[in-house]
Amino acid sequence: MSHLTTETFDANARAALADVQLRGALRNATSLFGTRRLAAANGLPNWQDLRTEARAIKDEVLLNLDKYLEQFVANAESRGAQVHWARDAAEANEIVCRLANERGARKIVKSKSMVTEEIHLNVALEKQGLEVIETDLGEYIIQLAGEAPSHIIVPAIHKTKKQIAELFTAKLGIEPTDDVDRLTSVARGVLRQRFAAADIGISGVNFGIAETGTILILENEGNVRLTTSLPKVHIAVMGIEKILPRFADLDVFLKLLPRSGTGQQLTTYQSIITGTKRRQTDEGPQELHLVLLDNGRSRMLAHPVTRQALACIRCGACLNACPVYQQIGGHAYGSVYPGPIGAVITPQLIGLGKAAQLPYASSLCGACREVCPVKIDIPELLLHLRAEITEGQDRTQEQAAGAGSGITKHRMERVAFKLFAFVMGSPRLYEWNAKAGRLFQRLVIRDGRIGKVSRIVSRLAPPLGAWTSDRDMRPIAQRSFRELWRDGLADDRKCASKQ
Ligand code: SF4
Repeated sequence: MSHLTTETFDANARAALADVQLRGALRNATSLFGTRRLAAANGLPNWQDLRTEARAIKDEVLLNLDKYLEQFVANAESRGAQVHWARDAAEANEIVCRLANERGARKIVKSKSMVTEEIHLNVALEKQGLEVIETDLGEYIIQLAGEAPSHIIVPAIHKTKKQIAELFTAKLGIEPTDDVDRLTSVARGVLRQRFAAADIGISGVNFGIAETGTILILENEGNVRLTTSLPKVHIAVMGIEKILPRFADLDVFLKLLPRSGTGQQLTTYQSIITGTKRRQTDEGPQELHLVLLDNGRSRMLAHPVTRQALACIRCGACLNACPVYQQIGGHAYGSVYPGPIGAVITPQLIGLGKAAQLPYASSLCGACREVCPVKIDIPELLLHLRAEITEGQDRTQEQAAGAGSGITKHRMERVAFKLFAFVMGSPRLYEWNAKAGRLFQRLVIRDGRIGKVSRIVSRLAPPLGAWTSDRDMRPIAQRSFRELWRDGLADDRKCASKQ
């Protein structure tokens, strides 16, 4: 799946739509998570208030991010953590590889983390000859399959039980079985040995608490707990937007995140890590490294509209609710962040030029906005990005046409709308135009419809050709409402005069 890119979204989406097995798996999973989310949200009478509160906390953080980051770093360092700043993916990867090489590490265990997917950390580590193994079951499955995650919280959502069973048989050499308990226990057996042998554990971070320098990681399988406590060194990679001001703020986010993501009241494990162990006899790693990643986030922060995307807590609810994601899944987006929030974040991370198709991968139905626990107005963000794309295209066109020479699409549109307003402002002109339209349409009407317009007409009137290339157009009625009205009045008068 790695060959799928953001630039080929349209083709990716068409291929996904033709994959019946994929669509079946997606339908089952997204509807299950959607139903569970709704039940969990309905179980909290103050759900809407919590969403408002969460958004207010995130807004406070984002408006004062410099202050809270400094506080977080000071508190984390005072408890023994070592903090590293990374401007982009290359710097973050370089830091992690250097830390691993300096310690002579060979084996690395990793827990599920979207930010490490974003920077393609595994590829960078493997290039250094390091052996990395994903320890989340879903991530382990897609690592075995050589694929990328297709969902923010359920990486292997696109795979059926049968496909996973076949994969385990092919890669791990087990007897064919579709017994889920057996498959899970095989994976557990492999992973336990890796935990015990690992030199370094790498994780992401769900929340970083400025007040205490604590990081919090949520999970259901216990693999994060093992990744962050068994190896001697723990490296946590964290986007700079993950900060919360106070420990007490977790009360709000721990109610919202699991309910929105999987419909759980709380995830099975919450690893709350504050610095390194104090005494040799304590459990936990000897070193804790926090890699704080920017990678385009400061740019998003600078704009009042795009800033709200940084409030995302990566629950995945907008993916499950999105009618586009439900049909095509995550790989079609060609990005580690799929679905509605991916269509917003990806263009800002890799540039609008490379991801210009993604903001259009939405019907703007608003389902994502309805379910988002931090009230991100994703449709507004998508429209904002679409406007930026259009403006960029217009600028390019104007430059290509040269100053003062040729008529650009933008100018043509302005002229067309002015002409339209002029005609609509005059009843007589409007009627003449309708009559001319009726005359002209005879050339293109087939079976009472204007279908695919002939090539000559398309060339003469390109917008008409574009419209009818995919749909039929209704012809202008042979008699307009005004004419019928006048005829009716004339008939009434005739009747009245006869009486
Ligand atoms: S945008 Fe909202 S719903 Fe979507 S993943 Fe982020 S927090 Fe969840």
